[in-house]
Amino acid sequence: MLSVFLSILLLSGTAFAKQKEVSLKVGWLPRKIEQGDICVVNVLVAKGIRSLTGEFQGKDLSFYKVKKGRLFRTLIGIDMETDPGTYQLVISAKSRSGKTVKGRYRIRIKERDFGEQRITLPEEMVELDEDTLKQVEDEEKKVKEIWTKERSDRLWRGKFIKPLDGEVISPFGVRRILNDLPRNRHSGVDLEAGMGEEIRSSNAGIVVLVDELYFSGKSVVVDHGRGLYTMYFHLSRIDVEEGQRVKKGEVLGLAGSTGRSTGPHLHWGVRLHDARVDPFSLLKLK
Ligand SMILES: [Zn+2]
Repeated sequence: MLSVFLSILLLSGTAFAKQKEVSLKVGWLPRKIEQGDICVVNVLVAKGIRSLTGEFQGKDLSFYKVKKGRLFRTLIGIDMETDPGTYQLVISAKSRSGKTVKGRYRIRIKERDFGEQRITLPEEMVELDEDTLKQVEDEEKKVKEIWTKERSDRLWRGKFIKPLDGEVISPFGVRRILNDLPRNRHSGVDLEAGMGEEIRSSNAGIVVLVDELYFSGKSVVVDHGRGLYTMYFHLSRIDVEEGQRVKKGEVLGLAGSTGRSTGPHLHWGVRLHDARVDPFSLLKLK
C-alpha cells in the first residue's frame, strides 16, 4: 500500500525533490494545488533521521509517521481565500548525530473559480439588530477559540466519509449574493437532506462543540486531532455531548433547518490548522 502510494507520486510527476546529502525525499499531492485544497506532504527520510519539522505560510508543520517505515506525512490546509502565487515550504530534518539539514521547495497555489450564488432571504434574516450582531460576534469568538486548541495526536483512521448521501445544493467557496448584496464566500458544502435524516461523523474524533448558534443553528464540531475539525450545522436534534468520543460513521444528530436556513439541509465544513478547506478534498485523502 505504502509503496503503491509512493510510486503513484513518482509516476504522476509530482514535484519530488531529493536532497542528496541526507536523502530527504519530499513529494506532495495534489499535483495542482488550488485555493481550498488539502495538500498532503510526504517526506521519506534516510535512516538516522530523528525528527522532522517544517514551515509553510508562517505556520509550523508537524509530521506524523505513516505506518512503521521512514515515511512521514503532514496535511496543509490552503485557505479558500489564500492569495494565488508561489509559497515556500521549508522542511528541516535532524539526524541522531545532531546535524540539521533544510530543504526548501516551492508550492504554487492556483486560483479556483468558485462561482457565485444568488440567494433571496426575508430582510429580517439579513439585516441584524444590535443585540443579534453582538450575539453573532460572541458566538464567532467562541468557535474561533476551538481552532486554537490543536491536539497533537491523530484520532482519525482511514478514509473520511460523507456525513450523509445528499447531493450538493450549494458548493464550497461560492460567493453568496444575498438580496443583491455580495457577502462572504461559502465556507462549507450544503448537502441535501431530508428532515430528520441521520448525520454521521466523517471519521473518529472528539466532540468539541455542541451549541445552538444564530447562523448555523444546532451545531456539532468534531475534533479529529492534529488541527483537523469537521462541522455539522442546522441539525434538528443533537445526539452527542461535548467531550464525547465518536467513531467514524457514528450518528451525531438529525438533519434539520435550524439557524439561518430556508429548508432542511446539512452544512458540512472542514477546518485544517484554521484554514477553511473544501470537505471534498478531505474525501480524497488515502
Ligand atoms: Zn452552508
